[in-house]
Amino acid sequence: MNNILSAQNPFFEQYQTPHETVPFDRIQTEHYEPAILEGINQQKAEIEAIIQNPEKATFANTVEAFEQSGKLLDKVTTVFSNMLSAETNDELQALAQKVMPLLSEHSNNITLNEKLFDRLKEVYNQKEDLQLTQEQHRLLDDIYDSFVRHGANLEGEAREQYRQLTNELSMLTLSFSENNLKETNHYQMLLTNKADLAGLPEIVMETAAETAKSEEKEGWAFTLHAPSYVPFMTYADNRELRHKLYLAYNTKCTHDNEYNNIDIVRKIANTRMKIAQLLGYDNYADYTLKKRMAETSNAVYKLLNQLLEAYTPTAQQEYQEIQDLARQEQGDDFVVMPWDWSYYSNKLKNKKFNLNEEMLRPYFELEQVKKGVFGLAERLYGITFKKNQDIPVYHEEVEAYEVFDKDGKYLAVLYTDFHPRTGKRAGAWMTSYKEQWIDRKTGENSRPHVSVVMNFTKPTANKPALLTFNEVETFLHEFGHSLHGMFANSTYQNLSGTNVYWDFVELPSQIMENFAIEKEFLHTFAKHYQTGELIPDELIQRIVNSSNFNAAYACLRQVSFGLLDMAWYTRNTPFEGDVRVYEQEAWKKAQILPVVSDACMSTQFSHIFAGGYSAGYYSYKWAEVLDADAFSLFKQKGIFNQEVADSFRKNILSKGGTEHPMVLYKRFRGQEPTIDALLKRNGIK
Ligand SMILES: [Zn+2]
Repeated sequence: MNNILSAQNPFFEQYQTPHETVPFDRIQTEHYEPAILEGINQQKAEIEAIIQNPEKATFANTVEAFEQSGKLLDKVTTVFSNMLSAETNDELQALAQKVMPLLSEHSNNITLNEKLFDRLKEVYNQKEDLQLTQEQHRLLDDIYDSFVRHGANLEGEAREQYRQLTNELSMLTLSFSENNLKETNHYQMLLTNKADLAGLPEIVMETAAETAKSEEKEGWAFTLHAPSYVPFMTYADNRELRHKLYLAYNTKCTHDNEYNNIDIVRKIANTRMKIAQLLGYDNYADYTLKKRMAETSNAVYKLLNQLLEAYTPTAQQEYQEIQDLARQEQGDDFVVMPWDWSYYSNKLKNKKFNLNEEMLRPYFELEQVKKGVFGLAERLYGITFKKNQDIPVYHEEVEAYEVFDKDGKYLAVLYTDFHPRTGKRAGAWMTSYKEQWIDRKTGENSRPHVSVVMNFTKPTANKPALLTFNEVETFLHEFGHSLHGMFANSTYQNLSGTNVYWDFVELPSQIMENFAIEKEFLHTFAKHYQTGELIPDELIQRIVNSSNFNAAYACLRQVSFGLLDMAWYTRNTPFEGDVRVYEQEAWKKAQILPVVSDACMSTQFSHIFAGGYSAGYYSYKWAEVLDADAFSLFKQKGIFNQEVADSFRKNILSKGGTEHPMVLYKRFRGQEPTIDALLKRNGIK
């Protein structure tokens, strides 16, 4: 290592900041690369030392030692990846292009390290005799499984086959996404007659005119991107054009051109099936669900079918109501088709609730909302937040808080970053700069540094930041994730905080969203920013009522995607048939609107063919069932009930991934979750 460089590089030092928070003020772009390279080298040496240890493999000298390895690499990549999302620039992006391949090669080298795996396996094979704690058991299983699930137990030809299949799969998923993106970008509906725009809001027309102009065309251009497609389907009076745009959207990647995904869909499903079978499973869903709270395909199907049965009658009523409205306008033989759904739904919603974002904003001034959300945590858990200006931040808009526990002890650092900027990606997320763990030598509980990042409405010259209701929900959601991080209390970082099964991670966040429509909670902060008037009860009631508008239809739509996903990934034999026919059969029980035979979802279903949701789409509904069921205990005992909150903290929030989520959940709830609370919340039951 270059000594001059290392002397100035903060990543090579112990941070001299409050709570050893990241010294953002001292980190320069040129510090990342040398620290990443040195971090990789250090971890390589640490792993080599584990392998070369002449002593017999033990939990401490192998599993714990492996868990402890890579601290420097973790220290620098945590900051690096967070900055790539929250405060990036061209230089940082270029560096990412350069170091990402090195990082993925490094992690592949670890997973494929046979000598390391042999030692881990030696410990694993005697685990019942080792008198491990529950947490140690869990850590050993997790680490061992992650190797096995990447083919570590395969030998000879099978190992080679695995390598080939995973390479093929990554090429296929890449082509799938590229085709989808290109076909989306490729399409344009250019309108030149202003009468065709009837019904569209001014801002939508302006954007469409700009799109056309940017390509030196006359008129208004509409595309298949959501900000153009969604408003057109919602507001355009011209039914024929809605039909045209709908078909363009819903036949993506099925056309006779180079962006066709039909065969790629078959190949992805079949390749995943082969990988799963090579690893000893019947199908890909079994392989995936092994590491999920749901555990089995049966549990997933049970949920989907229960929802199907419970929501279908209401969804049919919802369709009928929309149909009735459309017939009042269009005559008795009018049939509402998929391209009419958003349009008439929007009309009906306005008629029934007369509610829009602008009516609510004045009650949700950001500073007030912050007081409300922090105040909620204080009331539930007794924790307090104190702004600390001595903690360095990466942008002047970011604030850093010290969080203290009920007994006054330091608990965590929380950063908040609320508004959009160039250099920040879209969306909202919770992340951490340091996770929680207990130091094995000193026994010190090393507390976490977490952050919530949003893209909320900005203040203007004469108005403070006034949030939409949706932004208030998002704040509660991400704040819920941050509580999961801040309350973490595990021995091992790998099992700490939000390191839980994927269909369990949204429980702590979504449960907080339930508070958004609770009068008792809104009354603690939702005051008009000019008059100080408390949000009227009548307005709250309208929010509650409108939140369930078309809820059954929306649920069945998610169920239909879940069924389609499971149909592709529970196959035990390769699929060679007609993709459209297979799809229509798979989800037909969940269709409320008339079926359009040309439409195809599979060819553009990136979540399950190119994203991380293969055999996982159900988890959206799974998490909703959990959060509604868990919150019903608060509803029953009082939404600020200390006992329930204590139990939620003790059994869920502080436990991370140290035990199976169903075990944790039952300890909190006293029973397995049921769909009843969700049905009640949606007004179904
Ligand atoms: Zn979330």
